[in-house]
Amino acid sequence: MKGFLLAGLGMLSLDGVTVQVDFRDNNLRGGTEPVLQWIKRSEGIVAAYYGRFPTSSLRIQVITEAGSGVGGGTTWAGFIRLRVGRDVSSAQLKDDWVLVHEMAHLALPDVGENQSWFSEGLAVYVEGIAREQAGNRTQEDVFSEQMKQMPRGMPQPGDAGLDHTHTWARTYWGGAMFCFLADVEIHRRTGNRKGLQDAMRAVAATSGGLSADWPITKVFATADAATGTKVFEELYAQMKDKPVTPDLHDLWAKLGVVWEGGSVTLRDDAPLADVRRAIMHPRGSGATRAGLAAPEAAGHAAAVDHAAAGDPAAAGDRAAAGDQARTGDQADAADQSAAVNPAAAAGTMPAPASRT
Ligand SMILES: [Zn+2]
Repeated sequence: MKGFLLAGLGMLSLDGVTVQVDFRDNNLRGGTEPVLQWIKRSEGIVAAYYGRFPTSSLRIQVITEAGSGVGGGTTWAGFIRLRVGRDVSSAQLKDDWVLVHEMAHLALPDVGENQSWFSEGLAVYVEGIAREQAGNRTQEDVFSEQMKQMPRGMPQPGDAGLDHTHTWARTYWGGAMFCFLADVEIHRRTGNRKGLQDAMRAVAATSGGLSADWPITKVFATADAATGTKVFEELYAQMKDKPVTPDLHDLWAKLGVVWEGGSVTLRDDAPLADVRRAIMHPRGSGATRAGLAAPEAAGHAAAVDHAAAGDPAAAGDRAAAGDQARTGDQADAADQSAAVNPAAAAGTMPAPASRT
């Protein structure tokens, strides 16, 4: 007895990826079609970022609840559970971050709880870049969110390094800050030939994604090998044990991201404007560009087997849980980030606010 009645079932086949969608309740006011379109669109965004979708098959369970919007999601290897308001609109689905975030989790091996800051931070960071590359968000929107939210990832008084302080803010935005710093630095060192995107394509292809258990050191060694740098190794050594407070305001300014008049303006005459443009530019599918092996060599069969092996609810240790918390519990964080971000008070940075 599954405890619920399977009221609807949709099968999508997208670029060779089989997606089975289970609707736990079939009482969506707009019907299932907008939700299926949302799933297709999100799958395409993530496939474009990684060069191919991280798994060859995927099961998605859609649980409807009262209200509108997307309530949150949880991801296991080969399985994503979503909570969607029965009054959700097509516009809300088009503007949604949750599903791209959840699908991004599929591309990274399980790195364990002490490094959940990397799995969550990477999903946060990739969601913004991948949606921008696909035309689903603007550059200004992505950087506006970064400028509002990322300062929350700064260590607070008493915090240790990323491996030791597991608050919401350090996990989601401290992790995203690590990814942002890594991405910029890889671009700088390689003259914009490589970036975090190339590194994570290599990790996804080599590992098979979330069905694998990898120590973070193996993830970073694989990522660095793909870019011919030691950026991940070096940044991890700096930030894992000790609190590090990079000058984000200065970095955004160098990238040509300026907060003025209540919104983000992009400047192409900034010293690292070419890095910003390279990060945000679509890469195409080019597996060869990232020096990857042939797609079918990537061990995805194992991921499928794992997904089919049993009730995902029993595999709670693999869940990338708590993503609903991304937009929650932010009052404290707002106060804290204002304290570490004097530029906000000076009007050259936005005051932190919840994402809308
Ligand atoms: Zn997540």
